[in-house]
Amino acid sequence: MNQELDFDCLVVGQGLAGSILSWLLHKHGQRVLVVDRGSKESASAIAAGIINPVAGRRLVKYPQAEACLEHARSLYADLGHDLGQTFYREQPMTRLFDRPEQQETWAKRKGAKDYQTYLGSRFEREQYSPVPANQFGGFYQHGCGHLDTRGLLAALRKFFRSINCLTERDFSWHHVSTTQDGLKWNGYTIKHVISCEGFRSRNNPYFSWLPYQCSKGEILTLESDRHLPDSMVSNGKWVLPLGGNLLRAGATYQWQTLDSLISTEAEATLRSAAIELLGTGTHLTLHEHVAGVRAGTRDKHPFAGFHPAVTGIGIFGGFGSRGVLTIPYYADCFVQLVLDDNPLPGEIDIARYLDRYATG
Ligand SMILES: Cc1cc2nc3c(=O)[nH]c(=O)nc-3n(C[C@H](O)[C@H](O)[C@H](O)COP(=O)(O)OP(=O)(O)OC[C@H]3O[C@@H](n4cnc5c(N)ncnc54)[C@H](O)[C@@H]3O)c2cc1C
Repeated sequence: MNQELDFDCLVVGQGLAGSILSWLLHKHGQRVLVVDRGSKESASAIAAGIINPVAGRRLVKYPQAEACLEHARSLYADLGHDLGQTFYREQPMTRLFDRPEQQETWAKRKGAKDYQTYLGSRFEREQYSPVPANQFGGFYQHGCGHLDTRGLLAALRKFFRSINCLTERDFSWHHVSTTQDGLKWNGYTIKHVISCEGFRSRNNPYFSWLPYQCSKGEILTLESDRHLPDSMVSNGKWVLPLGGNLLRAGATYQWQTLDSLISTEAEATLRSAAIELLGTGTHLTLHEHVAGVRAGTRDKHPFAGFHPAVTGIGIFGGFGSRGVLTIPYYADCFVQLVLDDNPLPGEIDIARYLDRYATG
């Protein structure tokens, strides 16, 4: 350990990516400083928290689903143990086919060995309770779960405060300078400064060459006058039972305006989708309506690694709509890079976009 340094790592952003990365770095004995502006606009704070390894209409499994699931389950259990709270629980999902062709896709995937863990048995329309969205039957899906992202962020914030490693303020990259001892910020000498700024990394002067594809999303928390199913139900839109009669309903996708303002159109869309999934006549009372921006990327894989020209400046972000599943595994890979210079998995390494950096 270099005693000239004040910190080994400064992590900018205490969303899910920054929190988990900082936690793991701290566990490995690194001196970490977390800087977060403490605004409510983090995607992690409003995310539904769903893990679904086989998402989307085409029922495509996330390529690293096994490694990601294993790391996610183990890390969320460890965090629960260390912080004295349960953050993650497995929760099955009932998927309703949204059109007849999806039945063929299911049959094809179900025959493939690497999908068998996730795709359960099929049911016909008549076998499932008569909700309007159930026109073509569906299937049961395994390997899904739900993370209480808000609870986890709050518990980690408290932990980082308790060990004096959290600074709640805005971070400006223009105040970082390079010296031969390391990077300098606010009078501190630091080896690595890592951007975990969510969709705000798009404005980061060191990483503006990376191809983001961000989307805005809105989610409702509702109370139903009816008993809710145990499992999540999805046909593209989804409902997530939270316990008692509370549920979350989501999510919208919108690519034009990237802000965190809620809209009456999204509320109407999500309400009617929830009623389709729960049954006509269900009465829903609104408890909360939130919006945020997903930091998606053009090739749907995260951005991780260090800047090609400025030593010590790194990025760990671009988790799109799958951060709950993917962040634990890739944070572990990033820690191995920081500690032992182990190469990152190619799919997340920003080196795949070096041609964009070179051509400005
Ligand atoms: C509506 C919606 C629903 C979602 N549902 C799911 C889901 O069910 N499952 C799932 O896996 N994913 C979901 N996601 C995606 C998930 O939220 C992200 O993948 C993940 O939370 C991203 O975490 P992050 O830490 O990279 O970014 P963020 O959570 O956005 O965190 C970035 C943090 O950095 C801080 N920050 C940024 N710039 C600065 C600066 N210059 N100075 C100081 N602080 C700064 C911000 O305040 C923030 O706290 C959803 C996203 C949205 C918008």
